[in-house]
Amino acid sequence: MTAEPIVVWSEAITEYDFGPSHPLTPRRFGPGIELMRGVGATRFLEPPIATDEELRRLHQARYIRQVRSFSDDAWQPAAMGIGTADCPSFHGMHEASARVAGGSITSVRQVLAGAADHVFDPGGGLHHAMADRASGFCIYNDVALAVAEARDAGHRVLYVDLDVHHGDGTQALFWDDPQVLTLSIHETGRSLFPGTGDLDEAGGPDARGSAVNVPLEAYTGDTGWLAALDTVLPALAETFQPTFLVTQHGCDSHAFDPLAHLRITTRAYARATRLLDQVAHTWCEGRWVATGGGGYDAYRVVPRSWALVWLAQAHREIPDETPLAWRERWTDEATRFGQSPLPVQLLDPPDLAARERPEVVDRARRTAERALEQTTRLLEG
Ligand SMILES: [Zn+2]
Ligand SMILES: [Zn+2]
Repeated sequence: MTAEPIVVWSEAITEYDFGPSHPLTPRRFGPGIELMRGVGATRFLEPPIATDEELRRLHQARYIRQVRSFSDDAWQPAAMGIGTADCPSFHGMHEASARVAGGSITSVRQVLAGAADHVFDPGGGLHHAMADRASGFCIYNDVALAVAEARDAGHRVLYVDLDVHHGDGTQALFWDDPQVLTLSIHETGRSLFPGTGDLDEAGGPDARGSAVNVPLEAYTGDTGWLAALDTVLPALAETFQPTFLVTQHGCDSHAFDPLAHLRITTRAYARATRLLDQVAHTWCEGRWVATGGGGYDAYRVVPRSWALVWLAQAHREIPDETPLAWRERWTDEATRFGQSPLPVQLLDPPDLAARERPEVVDRARRTAERALEQTTRLLEG
């Protein structure tokens, strides 16, 4: 099938909003969605609000009740990870969070129904949420719910998490599930939230080898990050033989991002998204749902990262430049938030990446090799 990929999005997604001083800002959707349209996206689908029954597939009933309680009355003491600095409560937070979840679930249903091979849900990717706890800006784990939807339709699901932070919530929710393999490539927990994601986290007793972690040191840069991904991803897909691909495209690994230190550029994102497209077609008959994720440079980074996901899913060439009209539209706002000038090139200049030292690139590749060896041994053993 060659139908245009579907983008799951509506203005209501911007209601997922922790307030003006929180780093995860819905302001990213304005320039983000408009740049996707600018590079050619025309096919959009509104995300529905997930039902409690759908949320209960992975979240505990008492947690959903707690989120609903905060949703009605935001002024209560912190509980179950909500009301904290990372996840402040806000009026309507249940509906807003359940809509993000509904977007990711519906993305999988679109693929299962044959409406498109590839679907992108830029508002999704809230990978830190646990069964009974909010964490790291995430209330309901929409992307894990997407994985569960595909799994319960009988698929073997490969989950690839590119966010700079370890995909701890998704890993925990499928820890002992041999039908789901979670791969997270991230900045090491020694220097970054949530502190987990070490090599030795490999899955529960009934699913040894089904969690794969590639922790990278700060300032790894494009070459090391891509070497790690190239080492682990195609080989892992061959060993696990997935039939459905779900991916998380947090772009907080970027050199401009204020919260982390991997110093990746959009050049590496472009290569990564093409690699994922190949995995989808080689193993999954094209079945691929991508989500957004972290990303706190809302103007210079997030829109280009999303556009590159869409371009890979649409099998289109990457244009050299961002549209002039897009830059003109968002320059004032970007300047107001200290994120200008808006990039002219879709792909960053190579010198934006970390000054890459060969030994760092080597260590990244070796970490990926160790992760792969361990997983292969556990899956085949
Ligand atoms: Zn494709
Ligand atoms: Zn992140």
